Amino acid sequence: MRAGVVVVGGGVMGTSIACHLARAGVPDVVLVERDELASGSTSKAAGGVRAQFSDELNIRLGARSLEAFTRFEQDTGYDIGLHRVGYLFLLSTPEDVASFEAGVRLQNSLGVPSRMIDPAAARRLSPLISTEGLLAAAFSPDDGHCTPEAVVHGYAATARRHGATVLRHCEVTGIELHGDDIRAVLTTRGRIATDTVVCAAGAWSRAVGAMVGLDLPVEPLRRQIALTEPVDDLPPGLPMTIDFTTSLYFHTEGPGLLVGMSDPDERPGFATTTHDRWIPRLGAAMEQRAPALLDLRRTGGWAGLYELTPDHNALIGEATSVSRFLYATGFSGHGFLQGPAVGEVVRDLYLGRVPFVDVSPLSAGRFAADAPRPEANRV
Ligand SMILES: Cc1cc2nc3c(=O)[nH]c(=O)nc-3n(C[C@H](O)[C@H](O)[C@H](O)COP(=O)(O)OP(=O)(O)OC[C@H]3O[C@@H](n4cnc5c(N)ncnc54)[C@H](O)[C@@H]3O)c2cc1C
Repeated sequence: MRAGVVVVGGGVMGTSIACHLARAGVPDVVLVERDELASGSTSKAAGGVRAQFSDELNIRLGARSLEAFTRFEQDTGYDIGLHRVGYLFLLSTPEDVASFEAGVRLQNSLGVPSRMIDPAAARRLSPLISTEGLLAAAFSPDDGHCTPEAVVHGYAATARRHGATVLRHCEVTGIELHGDDIRAVLTTRGRIATDTVVCAAGAWSRAVGAMVGLDLPVEPLRRQIALTEPVDDLPPGLPMTIDFTTSLYFHTEGPGLLVGMSDPDERPGFATTTHDRWIPRLGAAMEQRAPALLDLRRTGGWAGLYELTPDHNALIGEATSVSRFLYATGFSGHGFLQGPAVGEVVRDLYLGRVPFVDVSPLSAGRFAADAPRPEANRV
C-alpha cells in the first residue's frame, strides 16, 4: 500500500487531522488505528469545550475549536450534542482570583466573553454548590460540553467522503527510514510506503516518536469519572462547574451528572482499570464545595488516560531531525476541545501554509531549549 501521508491514531486528533488534510485535497491520506476509532482517551473525556485558558495559544485554539463545534453538524451531518452552557471556575484563594482576573483580561482582548462574578451569582448559575469560603468565580458563557465519540465519527466519515482511508485494528510497529527520510510505516497489516507521518497517538506517542529517534515527552496518567443517578430539578443550563482548589468538576450527563476529579496519589502508567481509592477524597471535596452531590448514588463511571507533558501543554510541530514527521500530542487533559483547531493547524504545517496561530512555542524542542510554556488554568 502507498500513502501520501499516514496519520497514526484514531482519536479526536488523528481523525480531525485526516479530515482536514483530505478536505484540503491531499491525496492518499491513510489513518491507522490499532483498535476502534475513539477507543483511546477521546471516548473517556468529560467532553468539556472551552476557551477559558491562561495561555494565549490555548485561548485561540479553544475559541477556534468552539466555532468549529458550533458548525460541526452543518459541516459533517453529525449531531455532537453540543451544550453551550458555559464553564464556571470557583475560586477560593486570592492568588487564584488574581490569576483568573488576568486570564479574563487576556481572553476578553481575544474576543472571548468571559467575566468574573461573585459567589452569589455563581450559585445562581450552579445551584448545587456551597459558597462557603468562595471568593469569586470566572464564567464564560460560550464554553460547554459535547459528545467526544460523535466528533470522532463525524471527522472519520467526512475524511472518508473526501477520499481518505481509515484502517482500524492496524497497529503501527515501526517506521522505515533511509537516512533522515521516511520511507514507510510498518504495521500489523503490512507495509505502507510513504514519506510523511503524523503522530496523533495520544498517551502512546512517546513510543511512536521513538520509531524515528524523536523524544516526545508524553506520560500517561489515569483519571477517573463517576456518573450519578438522575437528579431532580437540574437547571437545563447548568454550567460545567469546577472547584479550582480541589479540581472537583461536574456537568449534566443525561438526567444525572458526570463528576470528575484529579487524584494526587495516581502515578504514571497505562492502567485504565477503575478503582475506589479516589472516593474518600472525592467525597471530601463534595462535602466542602457541593454537599448535595453526596446524596447521589453512583451508577457507573470509567477511567482513561491524560497524556501529560512536563509543562502540561501540548506538543505540536514537525521534527527537525527527520524529514516530514509531524506530531500533535501531549494535550495534558485539554485535547478533546482543541481537536478541530489543531486539525486545521497540522493541515497547514503539512501544506507549508502559515497556520491561523503560530504554534512554534509548542514544539517538542522547547524543553531542550529551556523554554517551557506552562498552562495555569488546568483541570
Ligand atoms: C477522564 C478524562 C477526562 C477528560 N476530559 C476532557 C475534557 O473535558 N475536555 C478535553 O478537552 N479533554 C479532556 N480529556 C483529555 C482528552 O481526552 C485527550 O486530550 C484527547 O482525547 C486526546 O486525543 P488524541 O486523539 O490525541 O488521543 P487518543 O484519543 O488517545 O487517540 C490516540 C489513538 O492512537 C492509537 N494508537 C496509539 N498507538 C498506536 C499505534 N502504534 N498504532 C496505531 N494506533 C495507535 C490509540 O489506540 C488511540 O486510539 C480528558 C481525559 C480523560 C482521561
